[in-house]
Amino acid sequence: MRRTYLDANASEPLRPEARAALTAALGLLGNPSSVHREGRAARRCLEDARERLAGTLGVRPEAVVLTAGGTEANALAVAGLAAGGRRVLVSATEHDCVRRAVAGAVTVPVDGNGVVSLAALGEALADDPGPALVCLMLANNETGTVQPVTEAAVLCRRFGALLHVDAVQGPGRLPLDEAVAAADTLALSGHKAGGPKGAGALVVQGDVHPLALIRGGGQERGLRAGTEPLPAIAGLAAAVEAAEAWRRDGGAERLGALKARIVAGLGAAVPAARVLSAAAETLPNTLCLALPGAAAATQVMALDLAGVAVSAGAACSSGKVGRSHVLEAMGLGAVAGEAIRVSLPWTATEADADAFLAAYAAMAARLARHAA
Ligand code: PLP
Repeated sequence: MRRTYLDANASEPLRPEARAALTAALGLLGNPSSVHREGRAARRCLEDARERLAGTLGVRPEAVVLTAGGTEANALAVAGLAAGGRRVLVSATEHDCVRRAVAGAVTVPVDGNGVVSLAALGEALADDPGPALVCLMLANNETGTVQPVTEAAVLCRRFGALLHVDAVQGPGRLPLDEAVAAADTLALSGHKAGGPKGAGALVVQGDVHPLALIRGGGQERGLRAGTEPLPAIAGLAAAVEAAEAWRRDGGAERLGALKARIVAGLGAAVPAARVLSAAAETLPNTLCLALPGAAAATQVMALDLAGVAVSAGAACSSGKVGRSHVLEAMGLGAVAGEAIRVSLPWTATEADADAFLAAYAAMAARLARHAA
């Protein structure tokens, strides 16, 4: 059976540039920390990847801390900066790896489209003049909602707070320059950009010094101990560079057109379906769709059986479909349990969009018949 993969926000297909870099790095024998020739070759590969990533983002190579994933990059920023007694404020729709990075974080509410309340953020910052860290993602993984990171940075600077931006869902979809300019720290993940799983990066700018969470061999200037996952890191740097070139070349617009094709098709075929976060700016590849009366898990399973891979909320480690804290924070009530996420990969085609439409319409008709 033909499979249609529409779960890019969980993991993007590997880009050819990333595969080439990954494969070349797999052939390197040495440890980047060893002083002999083999070690120096591995070190060169690591530093090339750092420079490539820094070049794509427009930051200094020394600002890039390489990690083993987006979760680790977020944890280093949030727990690493909170360690000095800094208060942490998180938007209500942050990924769990940010929300749960430290205990006792203050939650800043979002509106019905998932956009953070800048007024509430300002009040929370004004409430306590002590050092603070604000965490605001560039774009949400479940709804695609793009957050006002530049405006949040203005508020943070007014109150002397730091801003951490989880930009994991950004590469290949949104320009990153404003987020890079706004953020004191910014997290990326390789496999969300078309790289391999198991590499990430934290950009640390200015006079900002997170405490290392993993201590040992002193790698990454003492910020992240452990032998670097070199092949994954080489793949990450190549993927982010390729994703950004692809976006500038019209890739994101093409995804936006496919998303519009799905929305238009649904309007005609399944008028009961509701697009969530419809009034907000959203990622061009992400569509969060609720079908009243149909449990999200049922929809995901029915679509999977019909050959279409989508998800309900974030992919959590247990593989279970839990209730989405993102949709609950948006005040959606029961709808929070009836929504699926369609996230188009960079490889998506019109045939994929049409396969989804056909499977979704058939599923909705079947569920409506059963309910009657
Ligand atoms: N941040 C966001 C917004 C994500 O969507 C994810 C993954 O779902 C992560 C962080 C975690 O990244 P990783 O899978 O590389 O640990």
